[in-house]
Amino acid sequence: MNSDCKPLANYPLRERNTLGFEVIAQWALPITQAEQIPQAITWAKNAGLPHRILGGGSNVVLPARLHGLTLLMDIDFIEVLENHAAKTRLRVGAGANWHDFVRWTLDQNYRGLENLALIPGTVGAAPIQNIGAYGVEVKEYIDAVEAYDCQTNQWVSLSKTDCQFSYRHSIFKDEPNRFVITAVIFDLPKVWQPRVSYADLANHFDNRAIETIAAQEVFDAVCAIRTQKLPDPKVIGNVGSFFQNPVISNQQLRSLKAQFPQIVSYPESTTHSKLAAGWLIDQCGFKGMQTGNVGVHDKQALVLTHRGGGNVGELLGLAGQIQKRVKETFGVDLIPEPIFFN
Ligand SMILES: Cc1cc2nc3c(=O)[nH]c(=O)nc-3n(C[C@H](O)[C@H](O)[C@H](O)COP(=O)(O)OP(=O)(O)OC[C@H]3O[C@@H](n4cnc5c(N)ncnc54)[C@H](O)[C@@H]3O)c2cc1C
Repeated sequence: MNSDCKPLANYPLRERNTLGFEVIAQWALPITQAEQIPQAITWAKNAGLPHRILGGGSNVVLPARLHGLTLLMDIDFIEVLENHAAKTRLRVGAGANWHDFVRWTLDQNYRGLENLALIPGTVGAAPIQNIGAYGVEVKEYIDAVEAYDCQTNQWVSLSKTDCQFSYRHSIFKDEPNRFVITAVIFDLPKVWQPRVSYADLANHFDNRAIETIAAQEVFDAVCAIRTQKLPDPKVIGNVGSFFQNPVISNQQLRSLKAQFPQIVSYPESTTHSKLAAGWLIDQCGFKGMQTGNVGVHDKQALVLTHRGGGNVGELLGLAGQIQKRVKETFGVDLIPEPIFFN
């Protein structure tokens, strides 16, 4: 095995999970080049160990000791494949920082990703849950995903259709750890219009004529709104939204509205609607609540926080209480958004 493929024992991941839990990986390997991956996977298989993939750790809940080999995705590059009148096509390394990449696109005047500014984590993780914010999902701009398939031991390029994107979901969630994503191909069309209909952005731009709003202004507005509403993981541990917004039938929504006229919902399809999970949690009295070392953020009830010294057990205890109360009150199941490693 090459020296750059030699896993490191007992590797601390405290700085690599935004919840800020003390976590030790049994084995870890920083991956800076795609070529390291096949050797690393073979090493784990030969050792009889499972492997896991970690980007920035902003959407995972990790146990105190992470068994097996953890691949730390650090492949960092941006390549312009095409740039012409119709579109810009970019190939970006999985370990590139997502927000830095979005900022870079706007510096080059490549528009489209501005609503997704300030989402923590890496480019390679963006397709996993099809990251979304302020009315935009990343799937709209992904053309393909390059990955190593640990099942077939082959390099693959998955098209947008292959990725099976949906709300906070993709094939990568159905088959965890099968595909190690090394790069993502983005297509950013030159025809562009600001997307500011989402309530916070609409308020920010206050009925300004759409053609006068620049992409950089949307980026700045998204950053300002997010900074105000969401806790900075460098200050308070968190993984952003802890629960997905539940999708329910319009029939169930009608009966809930009869009981709770203020309930916050958004149309999802012709037959289904999405409920604002934060509103449900807030109504159950959890907003701002602290219990031990964990709590519920006082400005956004969807965000569970860790102030240091806590562990997974404490966090899951609180999450369980919230799920139970929301189910009892509204009859709705809250599904966690982050991925739990064991
Ligand atoms: C303050 C805050 C705000 C957030 N806001 C949003 C938001 O608005 N919208 C949103 O959608 N999300 C949001 N998130 C969640 C999170 O930022 C995203 O899901 C992000 O894409 C995770 O990136 P990561 O690199 O940290 O992934 P990680 O947490 O490291 O990993 C997440 C999952 O992806 C897998 N994975 C990571 N990299 C790869 C790879 N290269 N190949 C294969 N699998 C991989 C991991 O195995 C894991 O299953 C927020 C999180 C925080 C802390």
